[in-house]
Amino acid sequence: MSFFDKVKQSAAEAARLAQMTLEVTKLQTQISSREKEVERKQLLAGQAALDAYKAGDLKAAERVVAAQSASILALQKEVQRLQSRILSLKNEKLCPCGSHLPQHALFCSRCGHKFTGGASALPGEGGRDPL
Ligand SMILES: [Zn+2]
Repeated sequence: MSFFDKVKQSAAEAARLAQMTLEVTKLQTQISSREKEVERKQLLAGQAALDAYKAGDLKAAERVVAAQSASILALQKEVQRLQSRILSLKNEKLCPCGSHLPQHALFCSRCGHKFTGGASALPGEGGRDPL
């Protein structure tokens, strides 16, 4: 490979890396806005429960708490989806212990978890061996 080919190749690699970094940053921004929304909804549900408790009728908060909880679960699912998109952009997978590992890793270098099959484990989806 000529010197100029090498320069061209590393420029293309740098551009690809910059594009990936940009995409990851965008996804992280989306994650943090959803996490803020989760916190806001937790506060609303908590406030509704407290108000109802003060009024001596916890049942009065049930509808608000249920509605906020449903939105929180949907947002948390969305966060998981965005996180797994980041992992696949970085060509990594997530161990149930929280470590980020190369996509091809068979074992976790931190906890020793053994990966079976191709799908990466997501937090909250068990992530355990089927055995
Ligand atoms: Zn692990």
